[in-house]
Amino acid sequence: MDALSCALLPAPCTLCGSPLPQLSLAPICAACWTEFPLQPGDACARCGDTLDMPATAAGSASASLCRFCRLAPPPFVRAVSYGIYQGRMKAAIHALKFDRLRPVARPLGQMLAQAIARLAAEAPAEMLVVPVPLHRSRLADRGFNQARSLAGYALEVLRKSHPDWRLTLAPRTLMRLRATASQAGLTSRGRRLNLRGAFTVSDPDAVRMKHILLIDDIFTTGATARAAALTMVRAGAASVWVATLARARRISGHRHTPAEKPEDPGLSTHTFTRELEHAINFSSHGQPPF
Ligand SMILES: [Zn+2]
Ligand SMILES: [Zn+2]
Repeated sequence: MDALSCALLPAPCTLCGSPLPQLSLAPICAACWTEFPLQPGDACARCGDTLDMPATAAGSASASLCRFCRLAPPPFVRAVSYGIYQGRMKAAIHALKFDRLRPVARPLGQMLAQAIARLAAEAPAEMLVVPVPLHRSRLADRGFNQARSLAGYALEVLRKSHPDWRLTLAPRTLMRLRATASQAGLTSRGRRLNLRGAFTVSDPDAVRMKHILLIDDIFTTGATARAAALTMVRAGAASVWVATLARARRISGHRHTPAEKPEDPGLSTHTFTRELEHAINFSSHGQPPF
């Protein structure tokens, strides 16, 4: 194949390698877009985690809450996700973040919009949309904040589908004070310690009594969402809601995260104990759980 035909042919699908019929800004084939894993079964009414047992089986008022949310209610009202962080979803997020395939943010943002739309019936009519920030060193490294890109595209969709919902992008409200180590590969406790004091609010007056919709690409253990939401609540936010594109799925007490290795102590039989400790520590600093 000569150089000219190489230049004119569309690149193959980033996710499966099959040829694409036409040039596309987001080189992912139609089949791959239909194979993004959705969350199965019943989900916790607060954090959106898959429930270990059907909500109707436990027969109590808190039956639709997972054990973490029952023990330590998170500082956010509710978290929703579009899909599961595995398979095509994981590959697409990696393409966006690590291969910097930025056009993928638009279709992924449309997926995020579907998750946010599930909050429309119960969330406040006016909210500040706050992407979880990157520290400036990582932002300089990557060149963009994927959470901000996803939020921007999601809002484009929601402005049309929910014209009465007043969602205002506020990307500079929350700031990352420290260049935290990557959360990947850390245990739940490690994630919590890693995030301690990581966030601050740039202008508390802009947040006070406001309803916040926090946006991120992945919800893993919830440590980031809890830390960021707590920062907002302490700055005076009236309520914090969370929407992410994908969430890591916990299977048999294990949370499958991007770089957890079998020898990681976080994946030992102590995982659940550690996660409980994490949850309880988050609720033991005097902040009002609501
Ligand atoms: Zn494909
Ligand atoms: Zn929960």
